[in-house]
Amino acid sequence: MSTRIGVVGSNMVDLVTYIDRMPEAGETLAAPAFSMGHGGKGANQATAAARLGGDVMLVSRVGDDMFGEGTIRNLARSGIDVTHVRAVPGAQSGVAPIFVEASGENRILIVKGANDRLLPEDVDAAAPELSRCGVILLQLEVPLETVYHTIAWAARQGIEVLLNPAPAVSGLDVERIVDATFLMPNQTELAILTGLPTGSRSEAEVAARSLVARGVRNVVVTLGAAGALLVGREEAVHVPAVPVKPVDTSGAGDAFIGAFAQHYVVSRDVPAAMGWGARYAADSITRPGTQKAFADEAGFRTFLA
Ligand code: ADP
Repeated sequence: MSTRIGVVGSNMVDLVTYIDRMPEAGETLAAPAFSMGHGGKGANQATAAARLGGDVMLVSRVGDDMFGEGTIRNLARSGIDVTHVRAVPGAQSGVAPIFVEASGENRILIVKGANDRLLPEDVDAAAPELSRCGVILLQLEVPLETVYHTIAWAARQGIEVLLNPAPAVSGLDVERIVDATFLMPNQTELAILTGLPTGSRSEAEVAARSLVARGVRNVVVTLGAAGALLVGREEAVHVPAVPVKPVDTSGAGDAFIGAFAQHYVVSRDVPAAMGWGARYAADSITRPGTQKAFADEAGFRTFLA
């Protein structure tokens, strides 16, 4: 089986403004600091897998603006094959304006921009390369039709799919995702998908089982500091989190999923890959930022030692 990882998904540029307070309507305020970072769930998961030595290709769309080229350069620097990361003429890159107050309280806007222009035909155009992958990763920051199309195409090819149903959307059609090998939500996403409570591990297990009853093969629920839970047709398997002092947990799910995929394509061992993902995510939350906080192989080896 191929150990190549395909990611069909988003990229964003985070525009982080640190503020004393939000301005009122019509008011202009000076803010103490600003920083930019590369993000987007597709790009984040691809980056985590590639930094760990995975052979990763990304299918994604950027705008033909000042962020597009920088995004492609950044992805390539992490070792990702960017042949199918292309600019959409006339479109803006996806951006996430984020406002962070001194208390740590944050307000986030997502402007999907070119991510909304990643269409089923773009996946078809990448099919010759995607067909050489051992697993394909999907999230929900690109059009749902593209997600459904990729799952159906991969099923016909016999390629495994890992769907991270994030950010949570209420209209996801479970019938059209049952061919994915793995559905990997966090507790909030699982609650929205099922309409069931997911606050505790046992509630999450019941909710995940309701998806298995509807035909989903494997649900891996990430439970934050409580680790992750695999619910398939057999007994549930719990993998504990690795205790660390968290500095910034944003991107923990993406770190977990990218590392999981990188391990899984080699080992085909789901609980072992979950343990690997949990360790990689734990290391990443000890540093601020998302992609910036993802270790390379050497850095991760130091954390494991
Ligand atoms: P998301 O970032 O999508 O909300 P989670 O919060 O469930 O996802 O985190 C994903 C994974 O990251 C968890 O399964 C766990 O392995 C790890 N993780 C998250 N928060 C912590 C924490 N406070 N301590 C240790 N590990 C954590």
